[in-house]
Amino acid sequence: MHDVIVIGAGIAGLAAANALHAAGYEVLVLEARDRIGGRIWTDEQYGPVEFGAEFIHGHRAATWELVRRAGLPTSRWGRDRQFALGGRILAADHPLGAAVHTLYQQICEYRGPEVTVAELLDRLAPSSEARTLAGRWLANIEGADLHRLSAVALARERRLSTIGEDNFHIDCGYRYLLAPLCAGLAIELHAAVTLVRWDEQHVAVELADGRRFQARQLVITVPVSLLQAGQPAFDPPLPAAKQAAIAAIPRGHVTKLALWFDRQFWPEFTVLSTDGVIATWWPVTSARVPTLMGYMGGRQALAVAELGATEAIAVALRELNALFGVDAAAAYRAGRLVDWSHDSWSRGAYTYSAAGTAAARVALAEPVGPLFFAGEATVTGAEIATVHGALETGRRAARTILLRNRQIQTHL
Ligand SMILES: Cc1cc2nc3c(=O)[nH]c(=O)nc-3n(C[C@H](O)[C@H](O)[C@H](O)COP(=O)(O)OP(=O)(O)OC[C@H]3O[C@@H](n4cnc5c(N)ncnc54)[C@H](O)[C@@H]3O)c2cc1C
Repeated sequence: MHDVIVIGAGIAGLAAANALHAAGYEVLVLEARDRIGGRIWTDEQYGPVEFGAEFIHGHRAATWELVRRAGLPTSRWGRDRQFALGGRILAADHPLGAAVHTLYQQICEYRGPEVTVAELLDRLAPSSEARTLAGRWLANIEGADLHRLSAVALARERRLSTIGEDNFHIDCGYRYLLAPLCAGLAIELHAAVTLVRWDEQHVAVELADGRRFQARQLVITVPVSLLQAGQPAFDPPLPAAKQAAIAAIPRGHVTKLALWFDRQFWPEFTVLSTDGVIATWWPVTSARVPTLMGYMGGRQALAVAELGATEAIAVALRELNALFGVDAAAAYRAGRLVDWSHDSWSRGAYTYSAAGTAAARVALAEPVGPLFFAGEATVTGAEIATVHGALETGRRAARTILLRNRQIQTHL
């Protein structure tokens, strides 16, 4: 019998387990994958390249405390964004670039009645090109279907969150952020929880390999897309209000395409937004060889995932030929398509906000008996879809358990 079992060794689960362990609890973390980190996934084959979370958004993100504790080197990402249309990079002073920036800003600052971002784009767009480029930019960042993404919620989140401030890279890799949280923790990998049996005092979990564990309390940090798919199952089922909240939170989609090259054939740039198949490009400067990252969000993420790795890489190389006027294939070394939507333990990238999603997040975050909910989808403030938002939900779950058990720790 453990004090607390935590399902999921992503940032939220590790943060919850770390805080409970520090308070003297006997905690067991169960992780389905063969690694910790969840949607933090640093590949190191050619130096650090992020397959999942890439940036720390802003100076105020809660993750900075871990960066400092672990002594991690960081670098600031530039703010410069270029655009390409029909395979051609637009000159820095092209009026379309300014129009896209203005449109993007207008959407992020929207104050008015409920409307989707797609509707607002139609209403505001000065041209179809500006609409396409601004729409893709928003769909990418939010991972969202713009026909569901709420302009009211988006603008509120932009006003209150650290997104839109400077972005920072952890030079040695995002995964090193996890180290300070893991000290002394019991973490079982290859431990996929399939069933949670619970009553008011006690929880028993069953794993895919037949193992069973018991605890007084349980923290559930699995992505909401898995809860939507009934993974894990609950016996008795979760209350109707909780199930409704789970169903109401939209999951977003992101596909990344990492391409490694033998030589750098592109001029220095920070980020390039296109109307091509690969919606966004940026150079990954932390890698040991010249590396470009392709990033697609929303419907475009699903479209590129559908192509499969071989075709997506071929398309990407053709688009790079056009953009940079070179034979990109001749410099190509290796590529990797990272399809978060078909990842068994994620089934999507991160959540976004439709009308009414804020209330669903609050309802999802509510404990039910000995069950406590954390993770990116349970962020009740503005820091949705971020590492630091998820980190704080893990700490919140731990705090709630400690309060519930009358063992408040002042250092949390
Ligand atoms: C492509 C991409 C880019 C991103 N970019 C950024 C960025 O630049 N900056 C930023 O701040 N955020 C970014 N994010 C968001 C950020 O990565 C997430 O918000 C955060 O990592 C979520 O943490 P979590 O602990 O809530 O969930 P997860 O990291 O998903 O952790 C949940 C864990 O539960 C495990 N699990 C699931 N089901 C079971 C089960 N049945 N049994 C046992 N274990 C289970 C999973 O394997 C996983 O390890 C990005 C995300 C993606 C996908």
